Amino acid sequence: MILIDGKKAAAELREELKKEVAELKNKHNKVPGLTVILIGELAPSKIYVKNKEKSAIEVGLKSEIIRYPETVEEKTVLEKIDELNNDDAVSGILVQLPLPKHIDKQKVIEAISPGKDVDGFHPMNVGNLSSGYDSSVPCTPLGCYLLIKKIEPNLSGKKAVVVGRSNLNGKPMTQLLLKENCTVTITHSKTDDLKGECLKGDIIVAAVGIPELVKGNWVKKDAIVIDVGINKTEKGIVGDVDFDEVSKVAKALTPVPGGVGPMTIACLLKNTIECFKRSQKN
Ligand code: NAP
Repeated sequence: MILIDGKKAAAELREELKKEVAELKNKHNKVPGLTVILIGELAPSKIYVKNKEKSAIEVGLKSEIIRYPETVEEKTVLEKIDELNNDDAVSGILVQLPLPKHIDKQKVIEAISPGKDVDGFHPMNVGNLSSGYDSSVPCTPLGCYLLIKKIEPNLSGKKAVVVGRSNLNGKPMTQLLLKENCTVTITHSKTDDLKGECLKGDIIVAAVGIPELVKGNWVKKDAIVIDVGINKTEKGIVGDVDFDEVSKVAKALTPVPGGVGPMTIACLLKNTIECFKRSQKN
């Protein structure tokens, strides 16, 4: 069984991006810039943002964090986004989620210019992805996609099963696999026979949030299994896939932690660079 090493893949991707940023700097005399807006004091958000900044600096991007207290008015955030949309030094804007309750998440997402939407959440990017056009793609499914392609470069005709249909993971994952000519089944909490559906998959991507939901006898021999889940349990952090069971059946499997997680931030950097390149073309 191939243990898909997300840490190694992410380090390799960052190395490639570092070279690309150096080339872009030579060509355009400036580097892509990522601005992150962080609202409030949630510990996980603060850690994510710190890691994002560290990785951005490592590959040579210009990185900025704008911090607001939990009580900041929605209007202030929207005005700042407008300012950043019009700032040529800013290639990508990310507003760290979740937001305080008094701030309308969708309004914030839609305020970010689609060309600077490094999370790929703006409806314009969602539409472009589903229409098969060039767009920013949400970072976690993009990371999953790159890991799958490392194991199996030609996905055409493969049967893929995506477990979970969130806007963050399941739906964009489905679009990426469709673009690769997979036959994709998207499943969710109302799916009648989840085990039966999973058993059809040459590829399974689980993004549910239920510890060890996908069992060994749900997986076809030699399937590629990607585990997006991050679940805190008594025995520590586990994924949505029963690692011990599935590792006996699958051809390749991502561990949790150390699989999909590290790729997410690397893909954010990739998206920032892609936004910069598109802006230089226009
Ligand atoms: P989410 O928005 O809560 O969506 C969960 C999806 O799973 C929903 O579509 C839901 O179906 C489906 N589901 C729930 N129970 C199910 C069941 N019993 N059988 C089949 N499907 C079921 O979650 P998310 O944001 O996509 O996150 C999923 C997991 O990924 C979480 O553990 C999260 O922490 C993790 N995550 C990891 C990363 C990373 O970087 N590795 C990034 C983001 C998220 P319905 O639509 O029918 O409700």
